[in-house]
Amino acid sequence: MFQTKAYAAAGKSAKLAPTTIDRRDPGEHDVQLQVLFCGICHSDLHQARDEWHAVFATVYPCVPGHEIVGQVTKVGAKVTKFKPGDRVGVGCLVDSDRTCSECQDGLEQMCLASTFTYNSPDKKLGGVTRGGYSDTMVVDERFVLRVPTNLDPAAVAPLLCAGITTWSPLRTWGAGPGKKVGVVGLGGLGHMGVKFARALGAHTVVFTTSPSKVEDALRLGAHEVVLSKDASAMAKHAGSFDFILDAVSANHDINAYVALLRRDATLTLVGAPPEPLQVGAFGLLFGRKRIAGSPIGGLPETQEMLDFCGQHGITADVETIPIQQVNEAYERLLKADVRYRFSIDMASLRS
Ligand SMILES: [Zn+2]
Ligand SMILES: [Zn+2]
Repeated sequence: MFQTKAYAAAGKSAKLAPTTIDRRDPGEHDVQLQVLFCGICHSDLHQARDEWHAVFATVYPCVPGHEIVGQVTKVGAKVTKFKPGDRVGVGCLVDSDRTCSECQDGLEQMCLASTFTYNSPDKKLGGVTRGGYSDTMVVDERFVLRVPTNLDPAAVAPLLCAGITTWSPLRTWGAGPGKKVGVVGLGGLGHMGVKFARALGAHTVVFTTSPSKVEDALRLGAHEVVLSKDASAMAKHAGSFDFILDAVSANHDINAYVALLRRDATLTLVGAPPEPLQVGAFGLLFGRKRIAGSPIGGLPETQEMLDFCGQHGITADVETIPIQQVNEAYERLLKADVRYRFSIDMASLRS
């Protein structure tokens, strides 16, 4: 065991502050990495403040962070995929049972015994796992990803959660040439959905409530932008979408989007509104339409996404901050005052 610097919340009302935490010494299959950048996901804020107490109570001190890009510093004797100096990524998962049918299919995100990167029981060290707001991590190589070196690591970090969360459903529901794909909400998730849908070859339409985001949506790759409060603009797209990715995390009317789906088409939720959504049955009955959900992605699919990003030069739009500004960043996140993701330069933790 060794100690490493980190930023942690000591309680639900506490600001994040510097601390030191334990890491296990790397085992035979482990990769030790120095964290270069860590994205700030809204889940970090929810869990630092114990806002998911009912389903996922936070254990303090809580070290968030699951959008991690790092550099390998050490590997265990049986590690085959990585060597010191490699640029790597770690997302929302650091372990699973590896034996269930989901794990065997490379869908570790569905494993009922998976270990999340932070605030999850740590089977190896005891206590709970600690995330990427830290200097050093030790992770089993199965849960470490190769990161293309032609991409800016600060802007790669959010791909590990926001990226895979939008990539997986776009692939599952066949976004590609000849398909019309809608992306609802232009935030951390939505802006990646737009980039991916466009790069996959789909006709990409963004729905937003903010006129101020129209220009940005076009810059990010949208072919069309619809202001969702404009009923006549919405009506023009009725029954025309092959797939809609709904990345809104606030309560909203999904019936307005169900009306835009073609026969047998699917609207998939990747945001998590706090209240149950109301769905009108008739909107689904006629047209045999579907509403689905999708959580992050498995390890093989996450690697596929990172490789695709390397080939197509895709990264997140980030504002890079030192770790000392993380509490201000959380306040700005609550106001959606970032385009479109904060990425923490972890060199600031070491200086
Ligand atoms: Zn996340
Ligand atoms: Zn499993």
